[in-house]
Amino acid sequence: MISPKRIFLSPPHMSGLEQQFVKEAFDSNYIAPLGPQVDAFEQEFAKEVDVKYALAVSSGTAAIHLALIHLGIQTGDEVFVSTFTFAASVNPIVYQKAKPIFIDSEPSSWNMDPGLLEKALNNRARKGKLPKAVIVVHLYGQCADMDSILEMCDRFEVPVIEDAAEALGASYKERAAGTMGYAGIFSFNGNKIITTSGGGMLVSNDVNFIEHVRKLSTQARDPAPHYQHSEIGYNYRMSNILAAIGRGQLKILYDRVRRKREIFNFYQKALADLPGIDFMPEAPWGRHSRWLTTLIIDPEKFGASREKIRVALEKENIESRPLWKPMHLQPVFNECEVVGGSVSERLFEHGLCLPSGTAMREEDLQRIIAIIKSFT
Ligand SMILES: *Cc1c(COP(=O)(O)O)cnc(C)c1O
Repeated sequence: MISPKRIFLSPPHMSGLEQQFVKEAFDSNYIAPLGPQVDAFEQEFAKEVDVKYALAVSSGTAAIHLALIHLGIQTGDEVFVSTFTFAASVNPIVYQKAKPIFIDSEPSSWNMDPGLLEKALNNRARKGKLPKAVIVVHLYGQCADMDSILEMCDRFEVPVIEDAAEALGASYKERAAGTMGYAGIFSFNGNKIITTSGGGMLVSNDVNFIEHVRKLSTQARDPAPHYQHSEIGYNYRMSNILAAIGRGQLKILYDRVRRKREIFNFYQKALADLPGIDFMPEAPWGRHSRWLTTLIIDPEKFGASREKIRVALEKENIESRPLWKPMHLQPVFNECEVVGGSVSERLFEHGLCLPSGTAMREEDLQRIIAIIKSFT
């Protein structure tokens, strides 16, 4: 018997439009970094999320790094960041030799808890050492409680960077994820809602910010006919070919969001009535893109643990994954301070991401659902 093709968590899904833009790039011989596809991708992206400026870069991680460099973050500075996230939200803080301080999630959105953030800001204000920035992560396609978070950070005059790598297409009170803070970052890594095979975007309404990070991202060349440098630069730009892929992907972003939400609804309808299963809630303030369908399993009530389900799916060549392991539990960050922690610990212990690829067929979904139901 031939085993069925592997079902991945969130594989790339091309629209067919990408090749036209890639062909344009080839025909014009703009293969090397930069060129008209990059300019167009930046403009189209900025328009899509309704922000003034966008800078296409080599990854979401590079985008976060550039934002931190612009804010002057350096040795010994503190940066607050969600603990429930992927390590890429945090690593650039360490690149700058600054210290991450982790903030736990709230149960209602799984994102940064504004109450804990306020507590941590008050604590640091008393000590006279406020963080240099707050990186708030919008996880799995849902925005954090941005009004509360921005109000507090404004009060303490701390800039907010939104890590919207997983939340392109999500909204908060009609505003796009990633466009509410001082700067926002996005990722076009292979498993994100749209992909350029690898890449990222940095957005802001501040022209000085965008001009500076643009310069930093291309080796910090001063305006002069020769090569002159008065600060350290990086090679972080997106290539013209990858931007061409991005343009094709951007055109079908809202089809992908619609399909992601459909997939979520399909799982929810089939599984929500089982005892001990809780899907990631959709907070009242916005529209969840459902980049990944995620749930938590109470092993006592359900009769099997998250891990048992994951292994059973893997046996059938189906990829699922535990929720993110909180950063405060990561060996590499074990010296770092955390505010709260129990909410994300519980999510990690019992949570699972289900296959959410937008090209999945209904029979794939049925197969996954049948495996999960077989435990009850
Ligand atoms: C994917 C991701 C990133 C990093 O993006 P890359 O383009 O892979 O560098 C950052 N933060 C979060 C939350 C992510 O999921």
